[in-house]
Amino acid sequence: MKPVDRHLADILAQVRPLAPLEVDLERALGAVLAEDVTSPVPLPPFDNSAMDGYAVRAQDVVDVPVSLPVTEDVAAGDGALRAIGPGLVARIMTGAPMPAGADAVVPVEWTDGGVQKVTIHHRPELGNAIRRAGEDVRAGQVVLAEGTRIGASQLGILAGVGRRRVRIRPKPRVVVLSTGSELAEPGQPLGPGQIWESNSFMLAAAVREAGAEGFRAGAVTDDPARFLDVLDAQLLRADVVITSGGVSMGAYEPVKEALAPLGRVAFEKVAMQPGMPQGFGLIGEENVPIFTLPGNPVSSYVSFLLFVRPALRRMQGLPAGLPETVQATTTESLRSPAGRRSYLRAVLTGHTVAPVHGQGSHQLAALASANALVVVPEEITELPPGSTVEVIPL
Ligand code: AMP
Ligand code: MG
Repeated sequence: MKPVDRHLADILAQVRPLAPLEVDLERALGAVLAEDVTSPVPLPPFDNSAMDGYAVRAQDVVDVPVSLPVTEDVAAGDGALRAIGPGLVARIMTGAPMPAGADAVVPVEWTDGGVQKVTIHHRPELGNAIRRAGEDVRAGQVVLAEGTRIGASQLGILAGVGRRRVRIRPKPRVVVLSTGSELAEPGQPLGPGQIWESNSFMLAAAVREAGAEGFRAGAVTDDPARFLDVLDAQLLRADVVITSGGVSMGAYEPVKEALAPLGRVAFEKVAMQPGMPQGFGLIGEENVPIFTLPGNPVSSYVSFLLFVRPALRRMQGLPAGLPETVQATTTESLRSPAGRRSYLRAVLTGHTVAPVHGQGSHQLAALASANALVVVPEEITELPPGSTVEVIPL
């Protein structure tokens, strides 16, 4: 059997980052930056008031209380400003530029709020309540580095440095196609021998959680010709295809039957539990990566985390590898088959971890109740309670 790490390495050797493109800021949320973004100006661009109050010369407000004439109002957005003469003050609003001559702002709360004349009760420090030009960002400074995922605050600073268009790597478009003649669409009644189809919903959601676009292509029956038809049609809009089911050792394995003869997808046994039967290759004229995941829901989910998610990260220009782990102490004994790396569904609480009941690869409810996977190495078959283990938080 092929080690987990080698299977992932083989996959990553065949997937490349998507070509960057330039998009309007409104369409950049969730994408990954494909450039270093710098600011053309300092931020703030000019010294301005941090509060509503009065722009003063600090030396005029040493002995308080003091009453001084107010010469004018300075509002946010005001351009041409007169200098403040000795013994005079200007009423100033938050964000308004500091007039020349003034070197402190007295908050309105320290005054009587006068309009023609103001009485000030507290002495301001030199520079009080002034936001200095460039104290957030220097001109030419990199505010966001290539490889940064654009969330709300990153979008904010892109706009804040005046960018309207930005170079990003697009989200990979991932089509999820389930196979199985037993599968009924949720919302429809179950016939004899049927189960509700869950993998395409789960995997498309996992794709979105990984920052890519997930599309459900629904489910096809175990008919290789029909499977190939649907796959062909879906390839047009896909950067990646994920299939579930139809890759095991039995009969009626449409994915394997349809794709194995084409010679472009390698079907292999990977030394893991759950999720031993794996397939990966590049198909169609565009060499679209295809992951043929096993059909058991827990197997397909774990396979997604170990192999598909890193590939999606690579395609977005992000660092890619096996999921990060933390260490925890198991409260119960753990069992694992020899020669296979196990991913046990578990609940992680602080630094302790407890496996959930129901470790079968069909036990989706147990998976849904877990918040972590305990990784048990290939050579270990049993661990006593109190053992330190590696855990993948979900
Ligand atoms: P397969 O890999 O096709 O042999 O399927 C393995 C097991 O997973 C069978 O019990 C299937 O019924 C189940 N299964 C396969 N595909 C799905 C799916 N899309 N949703 C839920 N269960 C599935
Ligand atoms: Mg099947």
